[in-house]
Amino acid sequence: MLVFILNAGSSSLKYQLMNPETTEVLASGLCERIGIDGRLVHEANETKTKKDLDMPTHKEAIEIVLDVLTQGENKVINSIEDIDSIGHRVVHGGEYFSTSVLIDEDVVSKLKELIPLAPLHNPAHIIGIEICKELMPTKPNVAVFDTAFHQTMPASSFMYAVPYEDYKEHKVRKYGFHGTSHFYVSDQAKQMLNKEDSKVIVCHLGNGSSICAVRDGKSIDTSMGLTPLEGLMMGTRSGDLDPAVISYLMERKDMSANEMTNYLNKKSGLLGVSGISSDLREIIEAAANGDERANTTIDMKCNRIKKYICSYAGMLEGVDAICFTAGIGENADLIRQRVCSGLEFMGVEIDNEKNQVRNDQNREINKETSKTKIFVIPTNEELVIAKDTYNLTKA
Ligand code: AMP
Repeated sequence: MLVFILNAGSSSLKYQLMNPETTEVLASGLCERIGIDGRLVHEANETKTKKDLDMPTHKEAIEIVLDVLTQGENKVINSIEDIDSIGHRVVHGGEYFSTSVLIDEDVVSKLKELIPLAPLHNPAHIIGIEICKELMPTKPNVAVFDTAFHQTMPASSFMYAVPYEDYKEHKVRKYGFHGTSHFYVSDQAKQMLNKEDSKVIVCHLGNGSSICAVRDGKSIDTSMGLTPLEGLMMGTRSGDLDPAVISYLMERKDMSANEMTNYLNKKSGLLGVSGISSDLREIIEAAANGDERANTTIDMKCNRIKKYICSYAGMLEGVDAICFTAGIGENADLIRQRVCSGLEFMGVEIDNEKNQVRNDQNREINKETSKTKIFVIPTNEELVIAKDTYNLTKA
């Protein structure tokens, strides 16, 4: 059984070919700058190749990927007939989808209906689905949603305190994102705790960052909202702020709604505050060299994570494990250390030596005496997509 996993973005496309039964990844890669010029990064047979190739649209990009999988010195299958099914990562499933689904006409029309909630992502996913149907017409396609895991949130978590009719008419509510990662990591934590009725907080800290409170395997609250802008301070996204800042600045700086959306999504966060970069590594380096603004940026990033951890520990009425994942969560020991220090009052005791160990395994980094476990768990969203696709198509 082989699943082709596709994550189609507006000008890029990530892919993997995986055997979900053995979890073996046969090939993976990325098409970038689709519609501009086009670049392929392909990894297979322990060889990484980079090529500039013409990709005017997503169709040419997917054709190129299917070609490198089936032809040339780094081919991994003989023909596309060896692919059994296709799993698509879909950012927004709205209130329609609380699990992964087999894609039919009805699913595609719901994804189209949800475009106003994910104007950059859902159109690209629909294009990816339609091209796969055209190029591999006999293969089943499955949609795996970033929002699905959070559909278990109660109304008290997902409602905004705005007039109720805007929830009913315009679907204004918290949906939450990174659901596939929060599910995978909380499930791994549940196994590490060996406890069914677990209380887990997952910190997915990458360029995009979100936190999730998971009780007994179900999301009960998460930091991202209607869109992935709410919550933590991110690479270029502001996260939480007083909503009045928006109208205040729009009037003062004569900004349009589009310009404000761009300002909050692309020019804020780590980049906006530090003035250095959206990459935390560069900010940590600048802070080590005495840059005060960089130091404040790191403090802001850590304080906000800490605030969410404490509020979610309150909602969960205790916490068995705090988990760190994604680029920053898995690699930045400094951030883990700063986030956890001072939380000893709630039974969180980080072991500084264990925290500095680097590997790509699930690991425990708390002291023996810590009442709350602290885990580093490398996320694997592709594995969840491959397994859901396999389970929905094996029949
Ligand atoms: P992701 O979106 O999960 O790929 O995470 C990407 C981000 O992880 C980058 O923008 C970096 O800021 C961050 N990152 C990766 N490695 C480190 C590290 N060793 N220290 C601090 N940040 C890191």
